[in-house]
Amino acid sequence: MSTVTPIVIIGAGPAGAATALRLSYLNIPSVLIDKSDFPRDKICGDAISGKVPTLLNRLDPAIMDRFRKRFSPIDVWGIRFFPPSKKLIELPFKVGYERVPDAAPGYVSKREDFDMFLIEEVRRRENIELHLNTNVTKWQKTDGGYTIETKDGKKSWDCRLLVDAAGAHSRFSRKEAKQEVDHDHHAAAVRAYYKGVTGFHKDNFIELHFLDKYNPGYFWIFPLPNGQANVGLGMRSDIVKRKQVNLREALDEIIASPEFCERFADAEQVDPTKGYGLPLGSKDRVLSGDNYLLTGDAGHLIDPLTGEGIGNAVYSGFIAAELAENCLKENRFDAEYLKAYDVRIERVLRTELRLSYRMQQIMQHKWLTNLLTGIVAANPKIIELLCRMYTDFELRKQLVKPTFWWKLFRAKSGKMPAVNPSSVK
Ligand SMILES: Cc1cc2nc3c(=O)[nH]c(=O)nc-3n(C[C@H](O)[C@H](O)[C@H](O)COP(=O)(O)OP(=O)(O)OC[C@H]3O[C@@H](n4cnc5c(N)ncnc54)[C@H](O)[C@@H]3O)c2cc1C
Repeated sequence: MSTVTPIVIIGAGPAGAATALRLSYLNIPSVLIDKSDFPRDKICGDAISGKVPTLLNRLDPAIMDRFRKRFSPIDVWGIRFFPPSKKLIELPFKVGYERVPDAAPGYVSKREDFDMFLIEEVRRRENIELHLNTNVTKWQKTDGGYTIETKDGKKSWDCRLLVDAAGAHSRFSRKEAKQEVDHDHHAAAVRAYYKGVTGFHKDNFIELHFLDKYNPGYFWIFPLPNGQANVGLGMRSDIVKRKQVNLREALDEIIASPEFCERFADAEQVDPTKGYGLPLGSKDRVLSGDNYLLTGDAGHLIDPLTGEGIGNAVYSGFIAAELAENCLKENRFDAEYLKAYDVRIERVLRTELRLSYRMQQIMQHKWLTNLLTGIVAANPKIIELLCRMYTDFELRKQLVKPTFWWKLFRAKSGKMPAVNPSSVK
């Protein structure tokens, strides 16, 4: 016999857990289902951007303290960009920062830990019914919503609203919501865990290395707790296919190359190299329909430039939960009403995703990338401006405007006074 419940969430990764938690703090019960037991691994770079603590703090200002105490993540203070020209650009996330771990702008934490932390937060809430080890493989549209059923047929639920948070391989997203994978808007990546890698920045800056041979895409090295490192390589899927790149072999090749071998001289790989897909948010998609919403990777919301998806998964989960509150009040779960989800995703996330896509396209041109990064590397004022862009989205919009770069180029060649960050509008 099936259980009747208004809201069912499939997938308890960042998108699903965030949906359930946001609902819970709005005093709305939900059923949260995941096929895995936790802790479980998720192939990822493990970098948690500032968006995540900002959003989670809205639920409970003590939440990140619990995370830090329980899992001791690495506190991250900036990014090191290595463009093809090798002119290093170091961008702190905060201008003139003072390193205080409690106030870190970002973290690196194995997903095994971070996702377990979210599950522990879920377990603290009485109004979330959590089912782990529960694989949902069937769904049936009904008059009032959906009936969903587990693979073994032992459990089923009737719901008014189905929130799909089942990640990049969501069958519901592909088959029911018709969100097929488009290789031009999708990336493939491999990840390996190492211990003993050397040469990190003293304040744990994460490293993105843009290599000629693997463009558009990058090789990353992120510091992890306990002297480990998350090392990986990602590229757009159409190019992986066209150039027949074997990402696992490519990763080994990069690590053994003269550029990196010294840093890996005493390093040891502690886990086999694993690969997974990244559904990028560079293509506009409709993420709602009669009685359902697609969140996180199931809604293809990964940043096409940085590969960051945890923040958008959490954000889309919050947006889904806040709309669900209105659905319950108005007793409306139809496609027309749920369009409000796409409207809010457009306002909150799409502009940023489009911006990243344009930057991803710019970075396909090596000469242009080298020119722009050359200008940046030589001008501390521009570096300061870019730091401010990390937290100031309006400022970040300037980055894709040719006039912005023209002004900087002219400033560098002495034809204009040095650029004052606050004067670039
Ligand atoms: C190699 C790689 C590196 C990355 N690096 C970063 C990074 O450094 N920083 C960053 O922010 N993002 C990164 N990303 C993206 C990030 O991993 C995802 O965007 C993020 O995990 C999305 O969260 P989610 O909750 O939507 O999906 P997931 O985290 O995939 O969670 C989906 C959940 O659904 C469950 N599930 C699936 N099917 C079913 C089913 N049928 N029934 C029940 N449960 C089901 C799964 O068990 C899983 O727990 C990376 C991705 C890859 C592949």
